[in-house]
Amino acid sequence: MKKTFETIRELPEFKKAAELLKKDEENTFEQLKELVLIPAFSRHEQVRAAHYRKLMEAEGFEVEEDEVHNVYTRIKGTGGGPTLYVTGHLDTVFPLDTPLEIKEINGKYYCPGIGDDTSALAQNLALMRAFRDSGIKLKGDLIIGGNVGEEGLGDLYGVRNFFSKEENLKTVDGFISVDGQGPSVTYGGTGSYRYKVSFSNQGGHSNGDFGMPNPIHAMGRAIGKIADVKTPNEPWTTFAVGVVDGGTSVNSIAHDCEFLLDIRSNGKAELDAANEEIMKCITDAVAEENARWKRDEDYYVHDMGNKKNPVPRADRVVELKIEKMGDRPVGNQSLEDPIVKAALALYEVCGEKPHTNSNGSTDANIPISLGIPGLAIGRSGKGAGSHSRDEWFSPEGMAEGEAELFLLICGLLGVEGAAEPLLPIREK
Ligand SMILES: [Zn+2]
Repeated sequence: MKKTFETIRELPEFKKAAELLKKDEENTFEQLKELVLIPAFSRHEQVRAAHYRKLMEAEGFEVEEDEVHNVYTRIKGTGGGPTLYVTGHLDTVFPLDTPLEIKEINGKYYCPGIGDDTSALAQNLALMRAFRDSGIKLKGDLIIGGNVGEEGLGDLYGVRNFFSKEENLKTVDGFISVDGQGPSVTYGGTGSYRYKVSFSNQGGHSNGDFGMPNPIHAMGRAIGKIADVKTPNEPWTTFAVGVVDGGTSVNSIAHDCEFLLDIRSNGKAELDAANEEIMKCITDAVAEENARWKRDEDYYVHDMGNKKNPVPRADRVVELKIEKMGDRPVGNQSLEDPIVKAALALYEVCGEKPHTNSNGSTDANIPISLGIPGLAIGRSGKGAGSHSRDEWFSPEGMAEGEAELFLLICGLLGVEGAAEPLLPIREK
């Protein structure tokens, strides 16, 4: 595999592409700055998608846009090669009212979303231009652009939608999400379930209505039980209550409260087992809270000290609502899979030591879970702080990183007259 990349790297067309990317660096960075100022919270990417489309069309690319606003163009190969889909995600984790302003401090450009994953969008535009203008003849077909819904509650709906279409499922042989910072290869997909769990009752006075099953107490019981769940190290399986919310005042029985829950595993069976156990923790907790106050004469005498004045509201029980907000499939690939080996060989040829990760939660989960080889590969340039308001990006080394990605795509799809594709055509 290294030989393939070494051969392509010596082609005049590749050298021209690397030069073009370098010359294009400033323009690419300008486009990145334009894109990052358009809010694009997951499931609200439409305006940014429209602008991305405009940028592509302004350069003469024929754009396809599906009903969820994934946008991409197809670069046809000479024939006989595989089809590769390369994409960056249009969405960010930042709600629409997050102030967006680019501040430069010592060569670092601060703005929410500037790295994750807006820089990949600009880089993919630069790659489109380089494939068009370098004269390189790919054997296989390239689909390249931006997709919606990677982050959080976007729940991968963009790439999920892309692969829900029979024609894409039938034609695509490999997938690369340009995401993550620096040289990196994420080749496994951690599966996850995410939930909003709500507890409610009529609510009332902490004293006057004492004895009414308490939603917050039920939630506390549930979290206590969840905290004691044991999950395997192998495959790595985790859970967390990430957010809790609810209550009215210190002297109230709350009407409602809720928590957000994340359960993850690298194994499908283990994910489902942890899920089942945690769901039981929650339903048991609610049953226990309701039973705690049930109408039982002896119980009251003992518990309330006043048999003649039984607890007035014990028949109002805590209601439970569990909403699934995320369902990311588990996908497993090994270091021996051709697409993974190719990416590692590329970095070796380029003298880079990539960070490898077998358990990411990225857009690549979807193709991998469908049996389509997939990776998330790091964006180029420098940066840190993704998902925080202190996120920054620096274009230092951006063009060089783009050239590496260009080389990887050439290797996977093959170059007419010079190199056979490293990405196998799938049996469909
Ligand atoms: Zn990302």
